[in-house]
Amino acid sequence: MVMEGPIAYQRIRNISDNVTNDWRKTYPRVFQRRVMRYHRVPDETIKRLPIYLRRAMHLSEVGVKCVSSTELASLLGVTPWQIRKDLSYFGGLGTRGVGYNVESLVNHIREILKLDVVRKAALVGVGNLGSAILAFPGFLPFGLEIAAAFDIDKRKVGKKRNGLIVEDITHLGILKEQGITLGIIAVPGDAAQKIADELIKVGVKAILNLAPRYIEVPKRVKVITIDIALYLARLPYYVPSK
Ligand code: ATP
Repeated sequence: MVMEGPIAYQRIRNISDNVTNDWRKTYPRVFQRRVMRYHRVPDETIKRLPIYLRRAMHLSEVGVKCVSSTELASLLGVTPWQIRKDLSYFGGLGTRGVGYNVESLVNHIREILKLDVVRKAALVGVGNLGSAILAFPGFLPFGLEIAAAFDIDKRKVGKKRNGLIVEDITHLGILKEQGITLGIIAVPGDAAQKIADELIKVGVKAILNLAPRYIEVPKRVKVITIDIALYLARLPYYVPSK
């Protein structure tokens, strides 16, 4: 049978929607891997997922059961289209006309970001910034835990900071034994590259670089650099001159 025009398209869409839904329900992990293999998920989408997750976790805490992409979008200052597009990389997750079940949304995004198990991270550099990071309670709701801290300064090594004994930087090898693959760099800029190289040597696969310096890493390693000063440096531009 030859099908033409919008009806043919609708038929194909219905078939593929059904197949998609069956796969998604029966084999969620396999489905996710397949979807991710065929569509390279843009980094911008991955950047927004924790924002959706944070808001969905909050809605869940206050007892909201269901949220539409329009409601979610207005809470976050993005467009509903953007949310639907971002989540479509992982099979959509919502039901047309109903919206997203908040609890499922939380669970799914956690799964996508691999935050469905506690993830341990190591901090290098327990100076002012590193100490603030250690004391920061905001990683826990995402299931992120700083489980090891290192410094080169003998006055800091062996001391307890926020329940963690600061280790000597020469003991970085314990990360391999503990299977810790996330690293946070909070050392001065001129030490950042060396620390990144050493972290990678002991099996770290993703780095949050808080040092004010670009660091070079092999392609297989993910680096996110956050230099707070660069954000503040943009602000005066927007302040009207007298
Ligand atoms: P403080 O004055 O307490 O050292 P700070 O934030 O001013 O704090 P920075 O010079 O920014 O200090 O260094 C941050 C931290 O990084 C310090 O604790 C320092 O000892 C540590 N550090 C510097 N170089 C290294 C290195 N190669 N390996 C590990 N830690 C290092």
